[in-house]
Amino acid sequence: MASPKLSVIIPVHNESANIGPLCERLFPVLERTGLSWEVVFVDDGSRDETLDVIRSLSRTEPRIGALSFSRNFGKEIAIAAGLDHARGKAVVIMDADLQHPPEMIEAFVERWRQGYDMVYGQRTDRSDETRVKRGFAHLFYRLFARFGEIGLPEGAGDFRLIDRKGVEVLRAMGEKARFSKGLYAWIGFKSTGVPFVVEERRSGTSQWSFRRLFRFAFDGIASFSTVPLRIWTYLGFLISFLSIATALYFLIRTLLFGTDLPGFPSLIVSIMFFSGIQLMSLGIIGEYVGRIFAEVKRRPLYVVAERIGGTAEVSNSLVPESSQQRRA
Ligand code: UDP
Ligand code: MG
Repeated sequence: MASPKLSVIIPVHNESANIGPLCERLFPVLERTGLSWEVVFVDDGSRDETLDVIRSLSRTEPRIGALSFSRNFGKEIAIAAGLDHARGKAVVIMDADLQHPPEMIEAFVERWRQGYDMVYGQRTDRSDETRVKRGFAHLFYRLFARFGEIGLPEGAGDFRLIDRKGVEVLRAMGEKARFSKGLYAWIGFKSTGVPFVVEERRSGTSQWSFRRLFRFAFDGIASFSTVPLRIWTYLGFLISFLSIATALYFLIRTLLFGTDLPGFPSLIVSIMFFSGIQLMSLGIIGEYVGRIFAEVKRRPLYVVAERIGGTAEVSNSLVPESSQQRRA
């Protein structure tokens, strides 16, 4: 089969109820673009019937392909695997829960034809999210803009079209802690945003807990900035300076007025304060060392357990020989 022009990558994790309705809306849109297309599902270790649903759909629609991970590796890794296996000249990444309206793909393709290499969907409002979550999102973008090495367009997520040129660059980045949004911005190329309104999740609940989002945000900042490491140097200087100043103050006071043994509480407080600072800075250094450790281990990004339909063969992932094309 000749390579299709357009590939759509959809990471799925326990989305069996959404795949059917998604395809019903997606396929007519893909037909309307007039391009040859393929859909690549990346089953991120689902525990429900997601893979069975995809398998039965692919019997009637050969343009559907899928790979299934041996366990849950996370959405970011699923996207990386999708990029490895997509063959299109342009690649669209979207969620399976219909929060990313498939109709937008037409607008994306339109911009791509105009010569843009990266077209991202830009969410116009976050009113579906809680105020706290929105506040944190805003704080994150501010922090990232201040300390990160690159600017992130606010409201731009994974819903986007990337030209083959960009896909090849993304594939060449072997980072283990993948903060896609940062990587998309890092590679550059001629980019543009298309505003869209996020729809309600069709079925199921979001799999991003607050804790997971926080980790994700920290990953993002730590992958693109060393400021968290440097803060401690500045703080160290500041505290040393303050302690010299206090020492001088006490010295002069004792010389002038003598001593009467006060200050026991302040001693305890300062000891606790400094041990806290030290533990925190050690923790931050530990985070970076951990990242270095993850990178030097050179493990494959993901493990494919099964493949369905015709997706591109790749060599930079671990695909056990026996599992290839089984039951295809
Ligand atoms: N997803 C995934 N692996 C995961 C979690 C989510 O592949 O570990 C997929 C999920 O099936 C969906 C997309 O990533 O297609 C977005 O997930 P979700 O709707 O939970 O995130 P949100 O919309 O809250 O950002
Ligand atoms: Mg969602």
